Amino acid sequence: MNQKNKSSVPQSLRFIFRRTAAHDKKIFFYSFLSIPFQVLDRLADIYLIALIVDAATHHEEERLLLILLVFALYQLLSGLMMRFTEWQLSTRNYRSKMKFLSRYAARYMRTEFTTIESTAGKDLAQRAKNAMAGVDYRDKSSVETAFLQCAGLIGSICGLFVYTGIISLLDPLILLLLLTTSAAGYLLQRAMVKYDQKDKRRYIPLDRKLWYLVKELRDPLSAKDIRLYGLMGWLRRLFGETLASRRKLHAKRSRLQYGVLVLINLINTLFTGYIYYYLIRQYLAGGIDISQFLLYFGLITGFNGWLMSVIDGIEALHMTLLNIDDLRRFDALPQPSEAEAPPAEQTTDGGIRFEHVSFGYQEGTNVISDMSFTVAPGEKIAIVGLNGAGKTTLVKLLCGLYTPKEGCILLGGRDLRTLGREELFRRFAVVFQDIYLLPTSIERNITLSEQGDGDRLSEVLALSGLQEKISSLPDREQTLLVKGVLEDAVELSGGEIQKLALARALYKGGEIFVLDEPTAKLDPIAEQEMYLRYGELTKGKTSVFISHRLSSTRFCDRIFYLENGVITECGTHDELLRLGGAYARLFETQSRYYREEGEVR
Ligand code: ADP
Repeated sequence: MNQKNKSSVPQSLRFIFRRTAAHDKKIFFYSFLSIPFQVLDRLADIYLIALIVDAATHHEEERLLLILLVFALYQLLSGLMMRFTEWQLSTRNYRSKMKFLSRYAARYMRTEFTTIESTAGKDLAQRAKNAMAGVDYRDKSSVETAFLQCAGLIGSICGLFVYTGIISLLDPLILLLLLTTSAAGYLLQRAMVKYDQKDKRRYIPLDRKLWYLVKELRDPLSAKDIRLYGLMGWLRRLFGETLASRRKLHAKRSRLQYGVLVLINLINTLFTGYIYYYLIRQYLAGGIDISQFLLYFGLITGFNGWLMSVIDGIEALHMTLLNIDDLRRFDALPQPSEAEAPPAEQTTDGGIRFEHVSFGYQEGTNVISDMSFTVAPGEKIAIVGLNGAGKTTLVKLLCGLYTPKEGCILLGGRDLRTLGREELFRRFAVVFQDIYLLPTSIERNITLSEQGDGDRLSEVLALSGLQEKISSLPDREQTLLVKGVLEDAVELSGGEIQKLALARALYKGGEIFVLDEPTAKLDPIAEQEMYLRYGELTKGKTSVFISHRLSSTRFCDRIFYLENGVITECGTHDELLRLGGAYARLFETQSRYYREEGEVR
């Protein structure tokens, strides 16, 4: 993935140019507005001293005054322009950063689910996030500053050229010496840039590990296990080791950078020392007068300043280009097509068809293998199987979170890939085992909208079995959730959260109802109630019920028994028992356990 998408400087610049232009075209104008002033300011300083000395030594008072007046006016104009562009750019760049961040968030939401789950995808996402937030030593190289840096670099190059031209008029030998210094500086800086490219490959996995650990240590869910199982010492050691490796890399780079800068400074001092010696000799021999001596002296010192600015500018721009490259590669991650929504009459069928579907998380291994089946509109299907059989993967494929590697999935006769994402997700009401709770009221957590439908809410609360709990809360549906964020929030139990998930799915509605182990955290009474109400819950919908509790699937029309990603048995509960296969054996084992438990009591 990395090699294929490796980008060149023009590619990266084109990318950032297009993206920035989409929200603010004036950034370019303001970024480049200061270039002439950058060059003229420094030149004016040098010429001012030479001109003043010249006018003073010739006792030309009027000329002296005129020089000072023109210079003061120029300074005023330049100062005003510089402050104005700074003000414009700080506001516009900040806004631009926010736009990049929101685009990143939006793309992250739409990127293929398998990509986000993969290590490579996580790496890219981490890099792209760093590219905008500037969380490490690349602080000043956040992508939105690219044009400011380009402008700074162009300004410095212009300055270098102007000074080179003027100095070459004095003596080509001096120019040759100065250019040698530049070449040495440039080559050293390039070596540093190459090092940075390698360095990045080393520190990104460490950053990912660090952020993961920081997140886990903050998460109350993991904090519970960390305390009870005494994992703190081990985690702290792991964190310390990772941090030490990261610090080592950072320190190594800083040392190297310091060494390169010292070397550049040494070369500079050596060459410019010789040039100053040459100038003093010229002055003493009467080849140049005092004002010319001051002018050339200033120009050579200024040349060094420009040289350092060019070198620093290349370094900063290079870092920014690396960041842009990261963002560009994240941006290029495949996203499922955003097809147009089909006409309404095609969207209400609810029939499902798998045609030779295969899927795997890694190349060469399939978790779902060549699977074909049809579910009629309104049919109630149960998918059962042991842990790791592929049940959740199958559901994620069905909902369009994963895309089949081979074969296709049809909903109401339409290939899933041809449906718009929003349209596709609208068709499903899904209850996964893990649910994302929003830090807001219970009502909002269920309706997921500002203005919920009160009648509908009461209906789904009753159906999901959550009504009783809500009645016991002083603020009822308005009770806040997520204690970590809201102080007055309540903590729901695992089973209550599961009921809330069910209520959310019922409220959302859709032609296909998918329940992934929806009773795993319910008590036996709540579980039994749910089974009894299953017909009511799924009325008029196609439903897919996933469970490893075989007795819970009797109320379904058909049962698919899944083994290693293949449906090995299919039929009603009684048919499968008569078949005497894996399902029957498993059912016998489970019911024996319950019988024995009953006998003990
Ligand atoms: P089930 O729901 O039947 O318990 P899953 O569909 O969750 O099974 O998992 C099927 C297989 O796929 C398991 O071997 C599991 O380790 C693997 N698997 C599940 N999710 C991922 C993932 N995100 N990345 C890699 N492998 C996965």
